[in-house]
Amino acid sequence: MPTRLGRRPNGTFVKEHYCDSCQMLGINGLACHETGCPDAWKDYEKDCFECGCAFRPTERYQAVCLDCIEDKEVTDRDEDETY
Ligand SMILES: [Zn+2]
Ligand SMILES: [Zn+2]
Repeated sequence: MPTRLGRRPNGTFVKEHYCDSCQMLGINGLACHETGCPDAWKDYEKDCFECGCAFRPTERYQAVCLDCIEDKEVTDRDEDETY
């Protein structure tokens, strides 16, 4: 989630989250996307389709965590290949 420097009413500067696609809402001190924001998926964890652990997707429809993606790439390689 990108941040920008905001200014509190008392004059102190504070980093606050912002979103290009919606007006983020502050709920209980946590920045939250508006309902239906197309960028909201970037800030929420999903359960990995392979191992079930929670991860943050780096691509829109990513279904497995990075660990599982890397595992898959390793097992797809020729076993004799050296690094
Ligand atoms: Zn948003
Ligand atoms: Zn996984």
